Amino acid sequence: MSSFQNSSGKDTEIITQFEKNYQEIQLAINSAAACAGRDPDEVLLVAVSKAVGIPEIETAIKAGISDFGENRTHSLREKQNLLPSKRWHYIGHIQTNKLKDLVGRAHLIHSVASLRALNAISRLAEQQEINQKILIEVNVSGEESKDGLAPSELPNFLEAASTTQNIEVKGFMTMAPLLESAEDKTARQCFAALRELRDNLVPIFAGAENISLNELSMGMSGDFSDAIQEGATIVRIGRRLWS
Ligand SMILES: *Cc1c(COP(=O)(O)O)cnc(C)c1O
Repeated sequence: MSSFQNSSGKDTEIITQFEKNYQEIQLAINSAAACAGRDPDEVLLVAVSKAVGIPEIETAIKAGISDFGENRTHSLREKQNLLPSKRWHYIGHIQTNKLKDLVGRAHLIHSVASLRALNAISRLAEQQEINQKILIEVNVSGEESKDGLAPSELPNFLEAASTTQNIEVKGFMTMAPLLESAEDKTARQCFAALRELRDNLVPIFAGAENISLNELSMGMSGDFSDAIQEGATIVRIGRRLWS
């Protein structure tokens, strides 16, 4: 935190715009958690750094953030190379031929939505003798423009994942439709639906060693309060931190 001598000679702390945004978001996370009777420590903030560079990320690190999200493989690789002690989350569309840049570098890959990607991650993780943590992306809203498996595809997909080596399935990710207005409830319904899907699948896969469905990655700048009230354990926030 920087300080300067103002005209009255007193040291004045300058709160940067970033710190102000971050504090507001933390307050909003706390109050959404309180509304739902949840512990705010159950909610991980992933700072989506796709639109900013290393200096901005360093400011965020100074403010206490340790998890960052990227949606392009080359950006994740470059930033992870420069800041390898932070946790890098991959939240973008997966191109199978670019997975070699992600496996072993990404703390968590949020956007697995095909058997082809699942198997490719497994092979790369096996070569590196690691287990790669993943989430399965679910297209809850059914919008054609969105990536993700349909809810009805999840049982078979999880069945396949349960016998796939070097993979740990940690839960689900979704993106809600953009809100039309403050009264619009579709995002919240979408988050609730993902939680219910998860709750129904947990007992079915309780015996699968590499499947634990604790994580729900849902909620962005415009809708993270709704997501937390519906059980999000990871929120992915970009614009509200960096504008
Ligand atoms: C960009 C992005 C975010 C962050 O969105 P903001 O509206 O900037 O908070 C979250 N999730 C995914 C998948 C994204 O691509």
